[in-house]
Amino acid sequence: MSAQLDRLMMDYPLTLTHFFERSRRLFSKKTLATRIPGRPLFRHTYADFAERTTRLAGALRALGLRKGDRVATLAWNSHRHLEIYWAAPLVGCVLHTLNFRLSAQDLTYIVNHAEDAVIFADASVWPVLEAIRDKIPSVRRIVIMRDTPDATVPAGLDEYEALLAAATPVTGWPRLAETDAAGMCYTSGTTGSPKAVVYTHRAMFLHCLGEALTDSFGISEDDTILHIVPMFHANAWCLPFTGVMVGSTQIFAGPSPQPRDICELVQNERVTFTGAVPTVWIAVKDLCEKEGWNIASLRTIAIGGSAAPKHLQLAFKNQFGVVMSHAWGMTEMTPLGTIARLKSYMRGWSEDAQYDVRARVGYPSVGVDVRIVDDAGRELPWNATSMGELQVRGPWVVGAYYNNPESAARFTEDGWFRTGDVATIDPEGYVQITDRTKDLIKSGGEWISSVDLENMIMSHPKVLEAAVIAVPHPKWVERPLACVVPKPGARLDATEIIDHLRPQVAKWALPDDVEIIDAVPKTSVGKFDKKVLRERYKGWKARDA
Ligand code: ADP
Repeated sequence: MSAQLDRLMMDYPLTLTHFFERSRRLFSKKTLATRIPGRPLFRHTYADFAERTTRLAGALRALGLRKGDRVATLAWNSHRHLEIYWAAPLVGCVLHTLNFRLSAQDLTYIVNHAEDAVIFADASVWPVLEAIRDKIPSVRRIVIMRDTPDATVPAGLDEYEALLAAATPVTGWPRLAETDAAGMCYTSGTTGSPKAVVYTHRAMFLHCLGEALTDSFGISEDDTILHIVPMFHANAWCLPFTGVMVGSTQIFAGPSPQPRDICELVQNERVTFTGAVPTVWIAVKDLCEKEGWNIASLRTIAIGGSAAPKHLQLAFKNQFGVVMSHAWGMTEMTPLGTIARLKSYMRGWSEDAQYDVRARVGYPSVGVDVRIVDDAGRELPWNATSMGELQVRGPWVVGAYYNNPESAARFTEDGWFRTGDVATIDPEGYVQITDRTKDLIKSGGEWISSVDLENMIMSHPKVLEAAVIAVPHPKWVERPLACVVPKPGARLDATEIIDHLRPQVAKWALPDDVEIIDAVPKTSVGKFDKKVLRERYKGWKARDA
């Protein structure tokens, strides 16, 4: 009989505990800071963070929380939110980040579905919780965090700092399995009722490593990260975990950050890495042009959540010297899927050709398999033109939604997750998201990409934002309608937009009409909310009807 060959390496669980303990040892002098409106930044060290996190862990135990119990947050980005991010999974609880911008109905559904045991809420968002307090029976305790200088704590509720001060720090962590749940997050419900994704320690561990790779966001100890993506949205792209893993300096944007706050933080703190959805960067660009902020310390900006237009990326490069890293992902993917990095041999290409590549969402991250399939489930070639549903699999991709058997159809029989995005993949492996399935415009037998039209319209110098939606048409079934927001002070009419598009798109793909609107409605995480626009224009009468 031959000697044993397998299992000769240690069975060491991939848990967040390793990151936390390593960071505590190695990076105690590094800084964390939170923006407090009207005050200087609150600053402290990783040593303080570690000490406070062990105290909070002690407090969670004292509250009687057990393994698997859900610890919810309803909060802006802050050092306190970071402490809960870590303390909950380290004691074996499940961090559940709640989105305070959801309707009372959705929030009530989510808290009850998750059976949250405790909620840590910022004082400034307490009214959101107060409105549903009587409808969430699983919640045993509510802890209020004073996030603004004049914050008050409602009578009868715990206050975070007092809870910490009274707590006994834990001295050792439970030994967890890497498959234990560490966190959970609900999708924002743009495609039906919210569904919960439960992240294991292993998924987060591997995701952090993947995200920090040089060929990914290249996040290192050297970086100063500004957290703009809400910590309730897809784990703030996991950056608060990755930042602690590598020991980056981390700045939290605090309550209600506005574009000017972002510019000020980047300039004053010499931020090197940050990320947000495109709508944030459209506003920041506008402000930098008007007020001359210096954001050149940024080595890159991660941009994703919705399509990052080529002209926006070029403007950041040419006007501010900042290269954007376009990425695609989903709550269901912890969230990273693809990143638009150039391959070394593309750097000699013309700027235009390089930015054609950067406008795609990139090639898959290590750890993520991608494929596109047609309606019959047949895999399509990577030839840049075949268009089909994007499907993914990997160690940080959802395997099943939490307690939601009716969503089984989102998974294929051979073990892939159906993203609901329609894409092409080119021979180099770069993915291009054409649309979400529900946003594609089906006109006659043809598909029109709303994303392509929006990108072209937003490259018009007088346009601030544009969203293109399908409106019903008696002959063609659907036709595109462009909803366009001019830049402040600019006068714009429909003909200018159509003339701008005419040389760039086929005649049948031109929008039937252009509506000039004041603002594109946004979802709770700042993406264009086309559901609202579709509702607004559902009775649209085509001119030729
Ligand atoms: P939701 O938008 O439903 O709240 P997510 O934040 O998880 O939830 O969104 C994931 C979706 O966002 C993807 O399926 C895709 O449609 C869209 N998305 C993310 N990144 C990009 C990108 N870079 N370009 C185009 N679409 C993107």
